[in-house]
Amino acid sequence: MFLTDEPCNSMRVLLAEDNPCSQELMLRMLKYMGHYADVANNGLEVLHVLETRSYDVILMDIQMPEMDGLEATRAIRRRWHDRSIKIIAVTGCNQKGDREMCIQAGMDDYMSKPVKREDLESILSCCQSHRH
Ligand SMILES: [Mg+2]
Repeated sequence: MFLTDEPCNSMRVLLAEDNPCSQELMLRMLKYMGHYADVANNGLEVLHVLETRSYDVILMDIQMPEMDGLEATRAIRRRWHDRSIKIIAVTGCNQKGDREMCIQAGMDDYMSKPVKREDLESILSCCQSHRH
């Protein structure tokens, strides 16, 4: 049973995160909120999965091996110009200038770790209200 007025509350989320503990925590929260989520372990996997699947939101860890979140975001924005996918940066090192760097790379918003459920909820509902 969905305790919401929205008939279509569930979103397709791609979780780009290399840390298994963070993956598990985030997946649990997303599932609890009723969202559908896939996992990519680095930026290359993100680009690969986007070739065949579409998502409403990407939760993008900044620091990942192979290809980091900033580079992956730039590649996504170069490849798909319509910006229909929302990209939310998730970063561990909350440093001054991080937000600007993320926005400049083409991200839509920014969250710092450890991610709180309230933060995730408010950011996703914001993405939802801008959908289509
Ligand atoms: Mg990481």
